Parts: sequence; structure tokens; C-alpha cells
Amino acid sequence: MLYRSLGRTGLNVSVLGFGASPLGGVFGPVGDGEAERAVRTAIDLGVNLFDTSPFYGLTASERVLGQCLVGVPRERYLIATKVGRYGQDEFDFSAARVTASVEASLGRLRCGHLDLIQCHDLEFASTTQIVDETLPALRRLRDQGKVRFIGVTGLPLAALRAVVERTTIDSVLSYCRYGLHDTALAAQLPTLQAQGVGVLSAAPLAMGLLNAGGGPAWHPADPELKAACQRVLRHCQERGADLGRLAVQFALAHPGIASTFVGIASTAEVERNAACVGTAPDAQLLAEVLAILAPVHGRTWPSGLPANQDPHSGPAP
Ligand code: NAD
Repeated sequence: MLYRSLGRTGLNVSVLGFGASPLGGVFGPVGDGEAERAVRTAIDLGVNLFDTSPFYGLTASERVLGQCLVGVPRERYLIATKVGRYGQDEFDFSAARVTASVEASLGRLRCGHLDLIQCHDLEFASTTQIVDETLPALRRLRDQGKVRFIGVTGLPLAALRAVVERTTIDSVLSYCRYGLHDTALAAQLPTLQAQGVGVLSAAPLAMGLLNAGGGPAWHPADPELKAACQRVLRHCQERGADLGRLAVQFALAHPGIASTFVGIASTAEVERNAACVGTAPDAQLLAEVLAILAPVHGRTWPSGLPANQDPHSGPAP
């Protein structure tokens, strides 16, 4: 495993992070036995950062992850979870709700403190509420020793940047914005790094778009992006190449991104993704795939309040 420092937190995080949303069943059922084997294997392979949320599987991901970690020495893993999003359309970033939410997460995750607490999909709240109400409530929890570090997550980069410009946070988690089809996060790194903000990235398989199945039914990408991902899949199949490996290698290689969360549902996926660490993508295959994706490069989708959209994110849903 390789490790990088997360901003000014002093944490050294594994470049491969364990994305635990699949443990909540969001991509299909995962047996508890398989979940536990996957989590234990990840720790054995040096993965030390696990990302979850009360939203994933409507608390199932946190509950399963907590169960899988029973008996593992606490110093061997870092837990990142979230507040503010509780359902597809259920958001509550109020001080009262996020405070209660942290208590509930500590119970489900069976631990005395959370290493990182993040405002989940902050673009669904006003920046003013996040800065003036949510983050101060999380800082009070930090002062009580219940959380160590505080961050935000979301899709539109403008919304993440708006918070960083107005207050001090420890990390941002961006998803689907640094991978084969979109590298927009890279342009934000100098600003974030200059402010000591740790950068986490998620979903290098574009939340399943780059998988053989083509992504879950709920995937918000537009038909052109989905079709282009299918074209690269077919191209890799014809070449006998593993698109998942290429996508993960590409994402993990950026030195400015401390850790990349890949959604993991099995021991085989842990091993497959850990084998990508420190390896370079096949240059010829990468060039071919990027050429196929060029017409949709940077394509994202709307998420959150109208005021929080990135330019060119497409028509409102
Ligand atoms: P992903 O792009 O990581 O894709 C996950 C899917 O790919 C799953 O079906 C998984 O089984 C499969 N997979 C894993 N490794 C593979 C490989 N090598 N080849 C082919 N398929 C592979 O999407 P994700 O799970 O949505 O994102 C990863 C994690 O990032 C989440 O679990 C979550 O922790 C975090 N995340 C956070 C936010 C947010 O905070 N708003 C949003 C998205 C993701």
C-alpha cells in the first residue's frame, strides 16, 4: 500500500480508500460474511480509510461496516462518515439533526469517535447554512472528542469551493470528477492545497458506469455519457483488457489526491483494486480509451440547489 498525507490533518491515508456504500446494498445485495471478509482483507492489505454514510442503504452500510470491524484494533483504521443526507430526497443540515446523527453513527459504527465527519452532498443546502450552522455544530462535536476532523462532500466543484473560500475545513471529498471521463477536480487542487485542505476523490468507476453492468438504474448520467462508457467497455472487452483496472490505476496515480474511494463489495474487488496501487496504466490502452471518451469529457450532471450548480452541468432534472 502507498500512503499520502491528508491536508494538514496529520493523517496518513491509504491511496486506495474503501468505499463502503456497496455494503449498504446500493449496487445489489452483499452477504454479511462476504462484507466482513472484504473489510478484513482490505485492512490486511494496508487500506486504512473507510468511507460510509447514514444515507447508504438507509443506515445499512454503517451498521454492516461497524459489525465487520468488531475486534479490529481501532488504530488500524480511520472512519469517515457523513451527516445531512438521509434519503434520496431527504436532507437536513440543521445543527440539531447533525448532532443527533453523529451520535447515531457512533452507535452503528460501534466506536467512540469518528475520524472524519463530512457534510454529505452539501449542494443540497445553502452555503450559508453549511458555514453558519452545520460546521459550527460539527466543531462543537470535535471539541467534545466525538469527531476528529471535519469535511464536506459533493458533486459540483463550485459548491465545494464556495465553502472552502468562506471557512476552514479539513477535507473535501469530490466524486465522479477525477477519472477517465472527467478530470475537472485536478484544476481545483492548487487552491485547495494552498489552504491545507485534504483532497479525497471517489467513484473512479463513475458509480458503476464503467462496469460490465453499465451502472445501476438510478444512475443520473445522461444517455450520451452512458453510451460512451458502454463503447469503452466494448473496446476493452475486444482488446481483452480490464477497464476497471485501467480506471482505478488512472485515479490512484494523481499525487495531489490523498485517497480515492472505490466502492467495494467483495474480497475479489479488494484484491483487484489493491493490485492497482503503485502501478501505471497501459499507455496505449489509456490513449485509446481517452479518445473514445473525448466527446463527453468533463460531462457531469446537475445535483442540488440551482445556485450550487457547476457551469455546463446539463439541463435540470
Ligand atoms: P465506484 O465508481 O467506486 O463503483 C463502484 C462499483 O464498481 C461497485 O459496483 C463495485 O462493486 C464495482 N467495482 C469495484 N472495483 C471494481 C473494479 N476494479 N472493476 C470493476 N468494477 C469494480 O462508485 P461508488 O461505490 O458509488 O463510489 C465509491 C465510494 O465513494 C462510495 O462507496 C462512497 O463511499 C464514496 N462516494 C461518496 C459520495 C459522496 O460523498 N457524495 C458520492 C459517491 C461515492
